[in-house]
Amino acid sequence: SIPVQDYLTKAYEDFPQKTAIHFLGKDISYEELYQSAMKMANYLQKLGIEKGDRVSIMLPNCPQAVISFYGILYAGGVVVMTNPLYTEREIAYQMKDSGAKAIIALDILFPRINKVIKETDLENVIVTGIKDYLSFPKNLVYPFIQKKQYGMTVKVEHRGINHLFTEIMKTASPQITQPPFDFDEDLALLQYTGGTTGSPKGVMLTHRNLISNATMCDAWLYKSKHGEETIMGIIPLFHVYGLTTVLILSVMQGNKMVLLPKFDPEQALKTINKQKPTLFPGAPTLYIGLLNHPDIQKYDLSSIEACLSGSAPLPTEVQEKFERITGGKLVEGYGLTETSPVTHSNLVWGERTKGSIGMPYPDTDCEIFLPGTTDPVPNGQIGEIAIKGPQVMKGYWNRPDATAATIVDGWLLTGDLGYMDDEGHFFIVDRKKDMIIAGGFNIYPREIEEVLYEHEAIQECVVAGIPDPYRGETVKAYIVAKEGYTVTEEQLDKHCREHLAAFKVPRIYEFRKELPKTAVGKILRRSLVDEEIAKRN
Ligand code: ATP
Repeated sequence: SIPVQDYLTKAYEDFPQKTAIHFLGKDISYEELYQSAMKMANYLQKLGIEKGDRVSIMLPNCPQAVISFYGILYAGGVVVMTNPLYTEREIAYQMKDSGAKAIIALDILFPRINKVIKETDLENVIVTGIKDYLSFPKNLVYPFIQKKQYGMTVKVEHRGINHLFTEIMKTASPQITQPPFDFDEDLALLQYTGGTTGSPKGVMLTHRNLISNATMCDAWLYKSKHGEETIMGIIPLFHVYGLTTVLILSVMQGNKMVLLPKFDPEQALKTINKQKPTLFPGAPTLYIGLLNHPDIQKYDLSSIEACLSGSAPLPTEVQEKFERITGGKLVEGYGLTETSPVTHSNLVWGERTKGSIGMPYPDTDCEIFLPGTTDPVPNGQIGEIAIKGPQVMKGYWNRPDATAATIVDGWLLTGDLGYMDDEGHFFIVDRKKDMIIAGGFNIYPREIEEVLYEHEAIQECVVAGIPDPYRGETVKAYIVAKEGYTVTEEQLDKHCREHLAAFKVPRIYEFRKELPKTAVGKILRRSLVDEEIAKRN
């Protein structure tokens, strides 16, 4: 029961020279990571950061993000992960809500922060340049900045207080006095929900939450060889999924993490080919992106042993194809920010069940309740998935009402609908909020998406309920066709009618080049519905 950062101290003491991070051609040892994090902690303490103060990190995956994460924790602070894609409005909202006192950001993001800084409690800004420390290749920074900003020097001025990451690394002392920690109660992370459903809430995650979840993932999923694994870190560390299954897990075991600041299929394939990762957590859209790369066969992906797919349903063909090409195992799991995040998965080295999210992790209880109650339903019946376990959040930051509505009698109500079979395997049916009610019928978008994915021309799709004056809602499918394929509405309609009851068949199709996604690659169904509503008003 030691706090998150003490695992870095341990890794440094046990094997200082081992590589902790590989980033775009450069290796960083545990010694360098530890010393750098200590320097950051020392500096933050000098800036006045005290036990419990919130400090934001607004960086893509890069060594500075890892250094900052551990630096804040060593100083006694609470990390607030901020998505580098956030707009000014979103930054202002998150800084105000969390009360963050300092932020560590990429310098090119500074103008965005600076515009709203006066509305916030931010007293200090630490910036790191895209060319600082280690350089980011041009093509990998585009999502975070405008092309023309590359190479631009950013003047950082705010109330006369600003700090450069590189200076801190050069001048700060790696000695600090760590404040005492309460493993069970103290927050390590304030992680904002994705916002696919309503305004983002700060999820309070304690040291116990994060450590127990990383421990469970290892025990149930990977059974990894400590100190010998290489973990592929493409999913963002600013989402708790990447934070737990890449960063925390890797450092806890003294493994190596290979970070990429952005998902670029070609760059990812080249990196796998060269760095030979063994573990590779991801999301369906990420594996699909790799599989659709025309040259995938040219790369050696055989180092991959185990992959966990979370955040959205994993289509069976994707799972099978990925396993065929890599020779590794790709298993589906499930979780949410409120549970640090993983609660279920199939077994990598044992039984798994098609279409299932597997079984609850060790120490984790899962029940299916009649929606709106805490009454369990019989096996096989659909209800709301509820979770109890050491990874369940302490609550929502400053939202006692939302916390009370979500954690009921010790059970976290997930808002997801699912069922359990007689053998104890769990299945997700859909989100409570995504269920479509058309002409009085309950329709689950996921079931329709699965049928669509069976069509050979479909690369990505999402199904949503669109307001309809007669049926209440009607089923609409958004389709991205595979490169080199054309597909028509008639063909898809025929395909769906063969496999679905008539009331479930999409009434409207829209073909697009791409679909809007969250940071972890989840398709933003809600924003498509909002677009549709806006179009009609
Ligand atoms: P918000 O917090 O606003 O709801 P979000 O969807 O980004 O946004 P996360 O905590 O990142 O929030 O995602 C958790 C959700 O992802 C789960 O509640 C569930 O709906 C979905 N999910 C996760 N794994 C799976 C899976 N294997 N199959 C289907 N859905 C999944």
